Order: sequence, then C-alpha cells, then structure tokens
Amino acid sequence: MKCPRTHQKLKAITINNIEINLSTGCGGVWFDRFELEKFDEIHEEAGTLLIEHMKNFHQLLPDTSARLKCPKDPDVVMMRRYYSSKHQIEIDECPQCGGIWLDAEELAGIRALFPTQNDLKKDKKEFVEKIMASKEVQAYEQKSHELPNTLDNISNLLWSMLRFGR
Ligand SMILES: [Zn+2]
Repeated sequence: MKCPRTHQKLKAITINNIEINLSTGCGGVWFDRFELEKFDEIHEEAGTLLIEHMKNFHQLLPDTSARLKCPKDPDVVMMRRYYSSKHQIEIDECPQCGGIWLDAEELAGIRALFPTQNDLKKDKKEFVEKIMASKEVQAYEQKSHELPNTLDNISNLLWSMLRFGR
C-alpha cells in the first residue's frame, strides 16, 4: 500500500499485536476498518505507543483541500468527514473498504476530545437527537402521515371518474 499523500510505500508496524501502516514521509497512519477503535481511547496503550512512535517521523502539515485516494482501493476517492458532530477534526474514510486515514496529530486530537468510546457514543446520540428534532425532519414526518390520505383521495377521485365515465 502507498501513502495517499506522499505516494511512498507505507510501512507496516505491529503495536500490541495490531498491524497498522504508517507513512514515514508525512506522519499519517492507515487503519483498516474497525482498527482505529483500538487506538482512539486515551487509556489505550496502543494509541499512546503509536503517537510516541509517530514523533520519529517528519510530520507534514496536510493540504486538506486535496482529495485522497484509498491506499487499498486506488480507484476510490476517500470521503473527508468530521470524526464527530461537535469537533473540528476531519478524517478521510474509504466508502469502499471502511478504512480510515489519519494525518499526523489527528489521532492525538481525537483521543484528547473523546477519552472513551462512551463519550463518542454520547456525542453521536446527541447529534441524532438534534437531527430528529429539527424542523426539516418534523415537516417530513408530518407529510408522510398525510401521504396515505392523499393517496386515498387520488384513488377516490379516479374511482369516481371511472364510474362517471360508464
Ligand atoms: Zn478502501
């Protein structure tokens, strides 16, 4: 696999029996699907070790306007999204394989924001609740309740037209 930023070969390292791939060129890290959750809590030793290890490499300030391609699926452009609803840390996620690319210092940032998975879950829950309470969703629900009536009305109308035609 190649680094999506510098296109150099990623270096595989094993931390606490988990293999991850890092870029010695820019200090970014590639996590396969579900791997990041073994590193993102502040008490998780693997994350602490990884952050320490990353300090050995030059940390390139990322050009966040550049769209990155997935190291595993070279034809797939990754989606840039916020790691959480409230916080400004953006990550690159592959819609194909679910892998995540973190630029230098993003892992440390995520861990500082969400000391535990529960904090992250709580934030996601609040985000969903906020959306569900929004005017747009309420209006949509209102409409979807009216829909059966509308269909009834149309079928009544068609039925009466048919009868009228006979
Ligand atoms: Zn991928």
